[in-house]
Amino acid sequence: MIILVLNSGSSSVKYRLFEMEDEKCLAWGLVERIGARGAILKHNRYDGHNMKLAGDIVDHTKAIEYILAILLSPNHGVIKDRNEINAVGHRVVHGGEKFTKSVLIDAEVMNMIQECIELAPLHNPHNIKGITACRNLMKDVPQTAIFDTAFHHKMPDYSYMYGLPYILYKRYGVRRYGFHGSSHRYVADRAAVMMQKTIEKLKLVTCHLGNGCSSAAVNGGVSVDTTMGFTPTEGLLMGTRTGDIDPAALLYVMSREEIGIGEANSLINKHSGLNGISGVSNDMRELEEAITTGNKRAELAVNMFAYRVKKYIGAYAAAMGGIDGIVFTGGIGENSAGIRKRSIAGLEFLGAELDEVNNNAKSSDERFIDKDSRVRIMVIPTNEELVIARDTLELVQD
Ligand code: AMP
Repeated sequence: MIILVLNSGSSSVKYRLFEMEDEKCLAWGLVERIGARGAILKHNRYDGHNMKLAGDIVDHTKAIEYILAILLSPNHGVIKDRNEINAVGHRVVHGGEKFTKSVLIDAEVMNMIQECIELAPLHNPHNIKGITACRNLMKDVPQTAIFDTAFHHKMPDYSYMYGLPYILYKRYGVRRYGFHGSSHRYVADRAAVMMQKTIEKLKLVTCHLGNGCSSAAVNGGVSVDTTMGFTPTEGLLMGTRTGDIDPAALLYVMSREEIGIGEANSLINKHSGLNGISGVSNDMRELEEAITTGNKRAELAVNMFAYRVKKYIGAYAAAMGGIDGIVFTGGIGENSAGIRKRSIAGLEFLGAELDEVNNNAKSSDERFIDKDSRVRIMVIPTNEELVIARDTLELVQD
């Protein structure tokens, strides 16, 4: 069974093609700058062969046509016939309260995903473009939707409700939904395997630290709380997003700077976080570099970043009544020994003790980085695409 996984963003489509017998990734890549001049397709094959292609790719349909063409190409491809693709799994950011698990896409599901646009106007429309393109290009191939929000759907009401008037929840669905669900689910499952325990017996805090960042409290395999909220802006400090902020502070800034909703939205999502604090970059590598040259604001941004990660580990340990493991994943979580060190420092009282040598080891494998402490600390490279492919396989085999 061959499954194509697609992640359609505003100007990009990422893809991975899996052979599900042994979960082998046959090919992966992305189309960038869709709609702009000089779009680029970057393609990698399992045997190390890779290539780049530049061209005018006007929309998501064209991008997916290019992807299919490259997968079929005699020189760069991995399949001979389009019919070899048995199913397509799509990442969909927001499933609202309508979708609590992955689903096969039909006309009714499409309508329901459309209805979720209200909740995720920046993300769902692009996901829908990818789905629509595939439904047109591969009419007989089953398509599935895997939602970033679904893993968090079992959070208790006292953790997902905001302190706004209840009627606003009923009227507009304003509540915490949480995101990065496929990633938290994948690394929590892997952590249980690494710890040789059944996930039902584990209390884990999973920290997905990339350009977007979120932590989740995973109790017995169920997400019981998570830092991102109604939108991905809440919680941890991120590359360009504020994370937690007093909502009244934003209103105050809007009034003093005389800015409207659009500019305020851009302020909290595009010009804040690591970039806004440091004035250097949203890229953790550049901040770590700037710290070595004595840049104080870069240091402040990094300290704020790690402090919030630590604060939520403590909060979630309290929420779950204990903690057995902490997982780091995402571009920063997997690669920055410095951020892991700063985030864990001082958590010895909880039973989490970092091993410097293992933490500093250069490796892209999943591994323990603690001193065999009571709370295990792990680095686990995430694999959201594999979660999407597995769910798709299950749905089409039903
Ligand atoms: P992601 O969104 O998961 O791709 O992660 C992107 C983030 O990972 C960016 O902030 C990068 O700076 C960060 N990152 C990637 N590699 C490293 C590294 N070797 N050291 C520190 N940060 C890294």
